[in-house]
Amino acid sequence: MCTRYTYRSDIVTMVDPEGRSVVMVVEDEESYQDALNIGLTVEGFVVVAASTITQARALMTSSKPDLVLLDIMLPDGSGIDYCREIYDTSRTPVIMVSARSSEVDVVLGLEIGAADYVTKPYRLRELVARMRAVLRRPLTLSDDEIVTFGDLRLDIVRRTLARRGVEVELSRKEFDLLALFASRLGQVVTREVCLDTLWWGLELSDTRTLDTHVKRLRQKIEVDPANPAHLITIRGVGFRLDA
Ligand code: CA
Repeated sequence: MCTRYTYRSDIVTMVDPEGRSVVMVVEDEESYQDALNIGLTVEGFVVVAASTITQARALMTSSKPDLVLLDIMLPDGSGIDYCREIYDTSRTPVIMVSARSSEVDVVLGLEIGAADYVTKPYRLRELVARMRAVLRRPLTLSDDEIVTFGDLRLDIVRRTLARRGVEVELSRKEFDLLALFASRLGQVVTREVCLDTLWWGLELSDTRTLDTHVKRLRQKIEVDPANPAHLITIRGVGFRLDA
């Protein structure tokens, strides 16, 4: 059992000042933990490490990771059970990591809602590609979820938006952005989260693309786009979708 990595409170921040994604690595094998700490940091992630589920629970609260890499066989329990626990309380995506490659594990891992699944041994490059793909996805709502705001109805599964039964046409990106706001209805979504989620790799300073999409969305969803009732700008921070 590896206990060398304890809470990395020195590098845990609520919001990384450089806008990097925070990844929580839950892994009890020292060799993997070492390799991930170094490799993922080089790739531009902020890594917080836990070697047990107990440590992971504390880190979930203190570091609010954007993504969790979760080993299945842990000293104090099953990663599958802990993944369920994470999804009960948050929408943080989880990538399951396992030494076992049986189809049952893969299916079970994905059935409980894991965003993806990798089997050891894996190549760092492949893992990072999968992590970025997951971070690019808009935060998913539960599969049957429909969000209503004003007289608008957003159907996540069908990827449609309708106003009193009449479909409002959205581009793929506009839909993803609206789905991201809808997944946090009534809460502020920062510009960084928008860019990280939908435009991975775009420079944070180049936010005109985001503003253009917000403007187009307003023209489609607001009665008076100049005085939005739903898609509100929080100056200097981000946006909030109000019901
Ligand atoms: Ca393990």
